[in-house]
Amino acid sequence: MERARDAAVEEAADEMGAGAVGEHLEVREEDGAVTHFFAARHGGYRGWRWSVTLAAADLDAPVTVSEVVLLPGDDALVSPPWLPWDERVRPGDLGVGDLLPTSADDPRLVPGYVRSDDPAVEEVAREVGLGRRTVLSREGRDAAAQRWAEGAHGPHSDMARAAPGRCGTCGFVVAVAGALRGAFGVCGNAYSPADGEVVAVEFGCGAHSDVVYEPVSPVAVAELVYDDGVELEPAGART
Ligand code: SF4
Repeated sequence: MERARDAAVEEAADEMGAGAVGEHLEVREEDGAVTHFFAARHGGYRGWRWSVTLAAADLDAPVTVSEVVLLPGDDALVSPPWLPWDERVRPGDLGVGDLLPTSADDPRLVPGYVRSDDPAVEEVAREVGLGRRTVLSREGRDAAAQRWAEGAHGPHSDMARAAPGRCGTCGFVVAVAGALRGAFGVCGNAYSPADGEVVAVEFGCGAHSDVVYEPVSPVAVAELVYDDGVELEPAGART
């Protein structure tokens, strides 16, 4: 074991100092090689272990150090798994001046007016002859629709549940073009919390255009009483 410790201390000496090798933790034997594990005692290496493998060619051969490495233990502090950059960026990460290029095979986009699967887009393209290089694919459109429907301006939000009317019947909604026209619009009411945002037709808020103000008197008024001038008297009172 001392041979293994010396090897670990020698390895640690340059970068971390001899004190970076702690107590002996365990030993494992496999295929004629013996591996000793020592606790790592260095800042930032909590849970790591020095692993020193010793081996000999045969019983009479001298023992040599095969490998000295630092390995993470079960409770080691390690970096998260590596992710490609395009999987690290999340919705909402894009800041002012940032660029987020799309890849050539981005499934959310298809070449403009080709396989857009949106009759409205293709019809306009034919008539006008102008267009964008790419348009939303069905996949991209479905994903957007799902996000919007499940978001703060979708039909299941608290605001929608308490609303007196739906955006689909509101005079403040601005229709969107294309296949999503029947399901979404843009709110154009400055007093709505959704002003300028995409709203589901099943969303709604208290600023719906059909909400009318009905003034009521702050003073309680008794029910109307009619005085028709006819005086009644009990039948027995006549003579
Ligand atoms: S005012 Fe309210 S109900 Fe009308 S479109 Fe905007 S969010 Fe919808």
